[in-house]
Amino acid sequence: MPNFSKLVSGFKVFKATTYQNKKDVIHHLLEQGQKPTTMVISCVDIRVSPTEIFATNPGDLFILNNLGGLVPKYETTGIHGILSAIEYGVTVLEVENIVVLGHAKCDSIKMMLDDQGNKKNKQLSESMRTWLEVAKEAREAVQKNMAGRTLEDQQQYCEHESLVVSMRNLLTYPYIVERMKKNKINVYGVHFNIESGEILGFNPHTQDFESLS
Ligand SMILES: [Zn+2]
Repeated sequence: MPNFSKLVSGFKVFKATTYQNKKDVIHHLLEQGQKPTTMVISCVDIRVSPTEIFATNPGDLFILNNLGGLVPKYETTGIHGILSAIEYGVTVLEVENIVVLGHAKCDSIKMMLDDQGNKKNKQLSESMRTWLEVAKEAREAVQKNMAGRTLEDQQQYCEHESLVVSMRNLLTYPYIVERMKKNKINVYGVHFNIESGEILGFNPHTQDFESLS
C-alpha cells in the first residue's frame, strides 16, 4: 500500500465490509467502554499482526508495539511510552493476560545480535541501540550457549531468550507481581514463525518453548 489514496480506498472497503459486519461489537465497545482481557506486547514488524494471528474482534486485544517487542525493567522516572501503557493496561483496564509475542526472522533481534563489542552495527542509531540493549542478556546467552552454531539457530535462540528476558522483566513491575499473587493476571511468552505459520509457547515448568498449534 504505497500511498495515502490507497489507504482511503482501503478504508472504504473496511466501512463496507468489516465495519458493517462488526457494527454490533463496535457499538457495544462504545457503550460499555474498552474492556480487553488481554494485552499483547509485540514487535513493530509489519509481518506480525496480533489481531490476525489470534483471529480476534475489535476491542479484544490491547496491543503495544515496539522494536523487538521488548519489555524493559520497571522504573518510575523519564518519559516511558511502554511503561505507562503497561501500567494503564494492567491497573486501569485490568487485563487478565499479558502475552509477549516474539517472531521468527525478527530484524530487531538480528540488529541487536549483530551489534556486539567493538563490532557495532552501523544501522543502529544510539536511541535504537539503547532500546535493544533491554534484551542484551539474550545476546549474552547466545554468546555463552550457542557458539559455533549457525546464524539461523543463534537468531532463533536469541528470539526465544528475548521473550524470556521480557517475561522476567515484567516481574519487576510491582502492580503485576501483586496481581499474579492473587491469580488475577497471567504472563505468557509466544513465538510466531511467519514461515511455517506455527506458534510456540513458553512452558515455565520445562523452561522451554513448546508447540501450541
Ligand atoms: Zn521483530
